[in-house]
Amino acid sequence: MLPVGLLRDLGAAGWLCAQVPAAYGGRGLTSAAGGAFTAHVGSLCSSVRSVLTSQGMAAWTIERLGTEEQRTAFLPRLTGGALAAAGFSERGAGSDLSAMTTQVRRDGDAVVLDGHKVWVTAAHYADLLVLFGRYEDDDAGAEGADGAVAVVVPADTPGVRVTRVADPLGCRAAGHADIALDAVRVPATHVLGGSSLPLPLLVTTALAYGRMSVAWGCVGILRGCLTAAARHAATREQFGVPLGEHQLVARHLAELFAAEQTATRVCEHASHCWDDGSPEQVVATVLAKHVSAGNAARGAATAVQVLASAGAQDGHLVARAHRDAKLMEIIEGSNEMCQLMLARHVLGNTV
Ligand code: FAD
Repeated sequence: MLPVGLLRDLGAAGWLCAQVPAAYGGRGLTSAAGGAFTAHVGSLCSSVRSVLTSQGMAAWTIERLGTEEQRTAFLPRLTGGALAAAGFSERGAGSDLSAMTTQVRRDGDAVVLDGHKVWVTAAHYADLLVLFGRYEDDDAGAEGADGAVAVVVPADTPGVRVTRVADPLGCRAAGHADIALDAVRVPATHVLGGSSLPLPLLVTTALAYGRMSVAWGCVGILRGCLTAAARHAATREQFGVPLGEHQLVARHLAELFAAEQTATRVCEHASHCWDDGSPEQVVATVLAKHVSAGNAARGAATAVQVLASAGAQDGHLVARAHRDAKLMEIIEGSNEMCQLMLARHVLGNTV
């Protein structure tokens, strides 16, 4: 596991959600600058990068969906050393989040949560959980029974049980955990925005940030792999010459370089869309996540191939990258879900 003190120090220095505005104690980085930092972290350790993505996603959700009072109450905690995670997924609601069943019931000045979230990154470390669920309120707004809410739940609230996911394939120190919610009672002021919204709007808001962050993290994976593969191919000799002089190995290096450059360019484009408030932002983000995750998964496999036995041990950077990158093709919209969204865009429908 990661040293929690290190995570708190990073958080208190504003690095775990560096795009939070200075008014709330953040560093106020642009998406492009935040992305460059995320890629750097991702080139070193995808578990730390995953924690950073979760913290950023929680902060972004509070910033976008919360009232000014809620931003002032919660964001300085996230830029002050408290750790956070965001939970949508459930056993029956993975790719299809419309199947979510977690209930948030209004009860006087409080809301009561019942349900079960799974695979929530960083939940093992988190002090605050941003959790999504169906809202039941007699006075519900226009969304009525179809409405949903995001609620900030302190992880030590009675009724919250956090259980670590055993032996994840990759990002093994990212603190993935399942969260059981049994009559969890928090003040109604913890419901972001105070009333229900359409579920797709809620989850898309949080996921958009997560996709951008994961995409940049994948650029980092590719950079780490490229450096390791290039160094090895330049120094290890077989058949009397460095590996890189064998054309089939050189091709691996060229492909890895192309993968890193392509991922970098799509991420830069998407981040500029965020920073310019471009209407292309949504599709550019899905494209960046899809291209970068696929490139990282293939690129990390290529790097293992170049290093062969030298990279075939569990703790080696390229071995870790191989395991970590595969998971990037599953989260924040799997390959297939991204392809469906891109196809819908091509067909002229909203992503
Ligand atoms: P399923 O939805 O069962 O899908 C299985 C396969 O079928 C996938 O390949 C999928 O792409 C494909 N598929 C599904 N529907 C379609 C379709 N309509 N068309 C084509 N193909 C389809 N959740 C959180 O809430 N918070 C987190 O922080 C978080 N972190 C995670 C970290 C990791 C490492 C992992 C592995 C998961 C994490 N998750 C998190 C859960 C993650 O969001 C889900 O795993 C993801 O949405 C996929 O859901 P699923 O695993 O249930 O797969």
